[in-house]
Amino acid sequence: MESVNPATGEVLETYDDHTEADVDNALDRATGAFEEWRERPINERQVLLSRAAEVLRENQEEYAELMTEEMGKPITGARAEVEKCAWVCDFYAERADEFLADEVLGSEPESRSLVSYEPLGPVLAVMPWNFPFWQVFRFAAPHLTAGNVGLLKHASNVPGCAKAIEEVFSEAGYPEDVFSSLLVGSDAIEDMICDDRLAAVTLTGSEGAGRAVAETAGSEIKKSVLELGGSDPFVVLDDADVEAAAETGAQARTINSGQSCIAAKRFVVHEAVYDEFVERFTEEMESLSMGDPKDESTDIGPQAREDLVEDVHDQVERSVEAGARLRTGGERPDEEGNFYPPTVLTEVPRDAAAATEEVFGPAAAVFRVESEEEAIEVANDTDFGLGASLWTEDLDRGERLARRVEAGCVFVNELVKSDPRIPFGGVKNSGYGRELAEKGIHEFVNEKTVWVQ
Ligand code: NDP
Repeated sequence: MESVNPATGEVLETYDDHTEADVDNALDRATGAFEEWRERPINERQVLLSRAAEVLRENQEEYAELMTEEMGKPITGARAEVEKCAWVCDFYAERADEFLADEVLGSEPESRSLVSYEPLGPVLAVMPWNFPFWQVFRFAAPHLTAGNVGLLKHASNVPGCAKAIEEVFSEAGYPEDVFSSLLVGSDAIEDMICDDRLAAVTLTGSEGAGRAVAETAGSEIKKSVLELGGSDPFVVLDDADVEAAAETGAQARTINSGQSCIAAKRFVVHEAVYDEFVERFTEEMESLSMGDPKDESTDIGPQAREDLVEDVHDQVERSVEAGARLRTGGERPDEEGNFYPPTVLTEVPRDAAAATEEVFGPAAAVFRVESEEEAIEVANDTDFGLGASLWTEDLDRGERLARRVEAGCVFVNELVKSDPRIPFGGVKNSGYGRELAEKGIHEFVNEKTVWVQ
């Protein structure tokens, strides 16, 4: 496996893949580790998690630089990502015992019944490169604390991050094999899921990868959680604060250089504010600086891999061929690195690539609608259903319409974000299950009913 700096094309380091025998050994060790880990009082597991938060904060700069070098994330975002990982550790370190406390259902004179939350065993986490620390901690913080053990199969372009995360847990004092990272390709996943020693699997990534994992997990009757990206609508209604919507919209589209599952991708704008929004939004997009991700003033770094920047460009070109109008961007700069400029497409046909596919880069598609009704119809006209953002000055209207959007989460007058305190996940082809908050920690536990007569 290779780490390649996407800003320069330089090979940073090569790693030996784990062999089949290594995977077999890791599953054995994970099984052994689980037997002891599950017996640890939850408060001890919480103490270790708060220690993991400390390790993250102590080494924030080192981890941030690693992410920036390995997948091109602008350094300010990388630092914020490490801090967010520490936050999710703090969150479950404080509250996991409350979330997993027995739920007493009834204490009749003749019987007592309750639900107890018990860990399942070794859980495989197949993770992507876009938030290479956050996606892993979002999984590990709740599920290790619930008493499961974690096996990480990270994306093949971020082996350095995978190793570093393993070290966070070991430096924090976790017992060996409670969390381990396997440097394997995706072809190793099917056998792992089919292995009796593995209890469950979670995947964050593309729809195709999700389908493959879900199919195997389903045939093995194993619990799975899938977070598969989206084509989130950003709806600007006739009574919206257009200036705020344009500013936040540009941020929502270009966060992490546009490579985010919850980035706003389709801008659905009421005709009453359409011209003003397009003008302001295009200005905002043009004002963003693209360049060296190590430079603190950079807004947009390179795309993480050459094939990914090619995909985005191809989607933009196909959309223009289908009739979309290119307002800004749309051309790859003549310099080394996988850079792609902030791009705005308007008058996008409803069957164009930018309307129907997930565009995982800084290219926005804008649609004009004539009414609230049409706005909701266009917002829902997608196979995905992860997040959505609605802009209106009438908060009752915002809440009413939020209930009509087919998405796992809807934010009114705010961009879609993940936060340890609130559940995160999708519907439709964006996947199933929830991460974070109390709902998240309940995904990989046996919710056991106990009746005592
Ligand atoms: P992938 O879905 O291919 O990669 C995500 C993870 O899944 C990686 O660990 C990958 O391993 C693994 N994987 C890939 N195929 C399979 C499979 N058949 N079975 C099991 N595991 C698999 O994403 P890409 O990196 O190729 O990115 C392509 C597109 O996916 C993006 O353009 C975007 O649309 C979407 N995506 C969505 C993300 C999200 O946050 N929801 C994150 C990343 C991508 P390996 O790296 O070894 O192939």
